[in-house]
Amino acid sequence: MDIQYNIITIKEKIKAAAERAGRQNEKIEIVAVTKTVSPERIQEAYQAGLKNFGENRVQEWQQKKDFLPADCKWHIIGRLQTNKVKYLDKSVVLIHSLDRFSLLEKLQAEGEKRQIIWQTLVQVNVAQDEAKAGLAVEEVKDFVETVKSYSHVRVLGLMTIGALDASPEETRGFFRQLREIKEELIRKGISQREELPHLSMGMSQDYELAVEEGATLVRIGSSIFGHRN
Ligand SMILES: *Cc1c(COP(=O)(O)O)cnc(C)c1O
Repeated sequence: MDIQYNIITIKEKIKAAAERAGRQNEKIEIVAVTKTVSPERIQEAYQAGLKNFGENRVQEWQQKKDFLPADCKWHIIGRLQTNKVKYLDKSVVLIHSLDRFSLLEKLQAEGEKRQIIWQTLVQVNVAQDEAKAGLAVEEVKDFVETVKSYSHVRVLGLMTIGALDASPEETRGFFRQLREIKEELIRKGISQREELPHLSMGMSQDYELAVEEGATLVRIGSSIFGHRN
């Protein structure tokens, strides 16, 4: 498993997908998903040029981050328990999984206390999968509106996980829907376009589709580091 080779291949596929959709390739960033991956192997991805890394579990992240360069940009991509917020710090550039009011309140309290303004994405359950986290589509507008009155939390866009058993066409539909929700927030004046630069969607299975549908952040694990057992 050659990590550097995998990254080159993924970048080529992203570029091709962006071209198909008439998009600028520079607007798309890879978040390398490093859950269960050792610091040594993360370092290889770093040396191959990646700077953005995504972890699901705060505890696992804490154990690994000190073995990695200080300019790594960390993304929290999994369900974030409120009692773990106190362990986050300024090296967390984006929380992709803001999915409930209690987490919003906790981030605000912790942000005020420690002078951190958290950058977040609102996670949306577009697939309406009961097993998945995320706000229901019809809750997003009110939630994004609510966050505006919180001084230490910013919403920079939306995130979704598709559905595991979905066909490529269904998956494309979910990604398109996420983009449309963002467009609606802008159209209704809830957010300005420049306030919502990001759509985090697409994983190893489906990142090319996601790029075609407007992803700015793709979260890729197994295609970079190999399959987890
Ligand atoms: C694990 C994970 C990914 C990456 O999945 P791969 O299929 O390994 O690319 C992306 N997003 C989330 C939220 C994940 O938990």
